Amino acid sequence: MDRRDFLIQTGVLAGCLMLSPGLVPSVCAQEISPSSSSIQLRVWQYDLELRHTWTIARGSRKTSTITFVEIMCDGISGIGEAALSTAARYGETKDTVLEFLKKLDFRNFDSPFQLEDILNYIANVAPGNFAAKAAIDIALHDWVGKKIKLPLYQLWGLNPARTPITTFSIAIDTPEVMVQKVLEAAEYPVLKIKVGKDNDEEIIRAIRQVTQKPLRVDANEGWKTKELALERIQWLETQGVELIEQPLPTTQLADMIWLKERVNMPIFADESVLGPTSIPLLKDAFDGINIKLMKCGGLREAMKMIQIARALGMKVMMGCMIESSVAISAAAQLSPLLDYADLDGNLLITNDPYIGAQVKQGKVILSQDPGIGIKPRIAEDQQK
Ligand code: MG
Repeated sequence: MDRRDFLIQTGVLAGCLMLSPGLVPSVCAQEISPSSSSIQLRVWQYDLELRHTWTIARGSRKTSTITFVEIMCDGISGIGEAALSTAARYGETKDTVLEFLKKLDFRNFDSPFQLEDILNYIANVAPGNFAAKAAIDIALHDWVGKKIKLPLYQLWGLNPARTPITTFSIAIDTPEVMVQKVLEAAEYPVLKIKVGKDNDEEIIRAIRQVTQKPLRVDANEGWKTKELALERIQWLETQGVELIEQPLPTTQLADMIWLKERVNMPIFADESVLGPTSIPLLKDAFDGINIKLMKCGGLREAMKMIQIARALGMKVMMGCMIESSVAISAAAQLSPLLDYADLDGNLLITNDPYIGAQVKQGKVILSQDPGIGIKPRIAEDQQK
């Protein structure tokens, strides 16, 4: 059998168990590179378990399957992750991620130091598939940092003291449960409240009964008319809400322009912004963009997006999916460049197999470890 036919190897099995003590991944690690390649790729999937059922305007979930990749070369391993949006909003599923990764062939490359060429190759293997592409991008960057023994933020000349405060997200539930989640989130100074259903005002009023913290609100395309969005935002402006994310569906760009002219609150694009080329079209409709590695294809594209947004005079936030510390720590490496952060995906799960960037009183704290700054949780546990 050709090794490209996703051979499952016993040595790889031991590796995946080591990475997830007591938590066997839903699909065991698979090596998908031909042995003649200098760069080897391993892939395995893992079910993240959410502390609370995650509900936003377009759907719910209690677990989320992510795909880890490992790029190996010269005895060094770089780790990356593909995580998916609720209700497969961007067209990727755990199966499409695997299918895309199976197509990759690194035999034309000598080392991950050829990152630019490799990522240009990846971009052209198939359109879309941005979470799968992000996994490879993150792993390549992690490998480079580990090879030269520097965290990426140092390689990029970024000041770790400038990391932002991240919001902690409160997903949609009954007002009573959302209030309980707000109380559980006492250590986080800024909250992101998911709305977009019929009882938005009831929810915000209930939360305002128990906290006066700054709130950011995300409608996830849940309001379907510009008039409804205007009414809701004008009311939110009276409630100490700092910004609103994606009030209308992505197809309603003209309505967004109409809306932006009528409200004071900054409006951020999330679902409307994908990669770098999507930004210029949005500058009259939004004040800022929410960059996610899983929408844009990884750190290289995210860096371009930050520069493009700045050139257009737009604010920059980085957000996340339900992710482990692998993807969160990768995004955190760029976080000194941000105005706002919503990097809490790993804080919402109970079985994160890695340790990396931390959050202390809401502030993102970068790890001193090289690359994206992560370790398998078992290695950390054994040191204690
Ligand atoms: Mg959002």
